[in-house]
Amino acid sequence: MTPLSELAQGQQYPAAALYVVATPIGNIADVTLRALHVLGLVDRIAAEDTRNTGQLLARYGISKPLVAVHQHNERAAALRLIEHLQAGERVAYVSDAGTPGISDPGAKLVDAVREAGFPVIPLPGASALATALSAAGDWVATFSFLGFLPPKAKARAAALQALANHPHAMVFYEAPHRIVETVQALADAFGGERKLLIARELTKLHEALHRGTLAEGPTWLEADPNRQRGEFVLVVEGAQPEAAGEHDHDALLGILLEELTVSSAAKIAATLTGASRNALYTRALALKKDEE
Ligand code: SAM
Repeated sequence: MTPLSELAQGQQYPAAALYVVATPIGNIADVTLRALHVLGLVDRIAAEDTRNTGQLLARYGISKPLVAVHQHNERAAALRLIEHLQAGERVAYVSDAGTPGISDPGAKLVDAVREAGFPVIPLPGASALATALSAAGDWVATFSFLGFLPPKAKARAAALQALANHPHAMVFYEAPHRIVETVQALADAFGGERKLLIARELTKLHEALHRGTLAEGPTWLEADPNRQRGEFVLVVEGAQPEAAGEHDHDALLGILLEELTVSSAAKIAATLTGASRNALYTRALALKKDEE
């Protein structure tokens, strides 16, 4: 096999730079050759959890000085790492699993390093977000990543209410002890008909991808306690265009209704806007009733 250094040649690996390196989300074979090259090249590896990362690196036969950079010390640790960069070192940052900065520490370190004038070089790799989406299907052609919802019921319901008309598929992360209540909260906020993908334990022994609707999500999870174990990505269908834009053409319909019947107003509005004639008819009818 061609040596790693040769395979990774397509890019420069400057000194005095921070390398943000994605690591596997379960299956440790899901590391890139370039990640191994860079982890072998750098002088120091900053890690969210040095014990975990130490064990992972040992599996790849890599041993490097490790520095802890986690949620609680990210800014202070960043300053220490900048001193290493000033001394000309190459430094890598890895989070516990997957891509740093995606519901993981790393972003503050990136800001601090860039503000200090050093390059930040990203190395792509595993992420639960992209892994789940890659097996979701055509209905997630456009999506928004929302990460973890607030854990408290009231704050979560408010966050979901604000997303009720969001037109793109939504991707959430969730922990096993909240998975049932979160899927139920999604169904309560968005209605039961929307598509739902539950992606559990991706790349691991008990990987499961279940596609159904929000209404039957909690039932599927509760049918077997094992289905509630492990790590989860939830992908939920966005609002239908009619629902999202239900009130978008009110001003136009209002003007047309001053002169025309509901049916004619809907017909002309549909021609002008390209929106569904049926949806416009329903809305025009409601506007007319309101006025009366
Ligand atoms: N940085 C990571 C990434 O790139 O996906 C995410 C880290 S976040 C702290 C951990 C959450 O990601 C888990 O609670 C779960 O929602 C999701 N996750 C991570 N690994 C997963 C896996 N193997 N299967 C399903 N979800 C996973």
